[in-house]
Amino acid sequence: ALAVSLRGVTKVYDNGVMALGPLDLAVRKGEFISLLGPSGCGKSTALRLIAQLSAPSSGIVRLARHEGPAQPGHGIGFVFQEPTLMPWTSVRENVRLPLKLAGVAKAEARARADEALASVGLADFADAYPRELSGGMKMRVSLARALVTDPDILLMDEPFAALDEITRFRLNNDLLALWRSLRKTVIFVTHSVFESVYLSQRVVVMTARPGRIQADIRIETVEP
Ligand code: ADP
Ligand code: ADP
Repeated sequence: ALAVSLRGVTKVYDNGVMALGPLDLAVRKGEFISLLGPSGCGKSTALRLIAQLSAPSSGIVRLARHEGPAQPGHGIGFVFQEPTLMPWTSVRENVRLPLKLAGVAKAEARARADEALASVGLADFADAYPRELSGGMKMRVSLARALVTDPDILLMDEPFAALDEITRFRLNNDLLALWRSLRKTVIFVTHSVFESVYLSQRVVVMTARPGRIQADIRIETVEP
């Protein structure tokens, strides 16, 4: 079954910039794909279209209907390169925010925030403030905040690009372990060929702007 399908999708911004497409892309449920391509080819635009934060100029963006209880934010979790945490409140409150906005009761939301923090290795940091955390830890909080609503699809826009190599490698391994246990659909934008091949089952390479698909490569791994 498909999680996401884009058919003939283009995006022309108000200033006349043709940012994307036409793009055809189908992502299966549970698949982990990477999007690679030159700066400005429309990768972030594609993620915003999938997240329904922006409307296509033409074409169709379709998401699988969520099964089960209603999901806040179209069943999508979004992780950006900048963790954008609220500095004035605790890590737990930062992670709880999407549930609070969705009207989930406080006690349940706090418990789910703590669970999400544990899943990214930050069980002991729920009461800390963002300024007390390293860059890698802030990224983990951002990931926990994206996962706390139990989204069907996780969109990640160059999430680890600003981190040092060792922290980035640890996060790669932890993200991979998390994906193997959760089996969520992940669309991961990166400039790193290493990261794309290491993490994903499929690497989609885009052309220069306006981005279309140049190559769509299946990654075969021998590891479980
Ligand atoms: P990428 O993520 O691959 O670097 P983007 O999707 O951010 O590419 O941008 C694609 C193109 O669209 C770029 O030329 C960028 O400057 C332009 N662009 C992105 N967002 C907007 C916007 N809101 N208004 C106008 N132009 C935009
Ligand atoms: P849409 O019209 O599809 O809703 P927007 O024009 O609102 O998309 O742009 C989405 C985001 O991109 C906004 O937050 C905007 O501030 C930002 N943005 C605007 N211009 C540019 C640009 N030239 N390059 C990159 N991002 C931009």
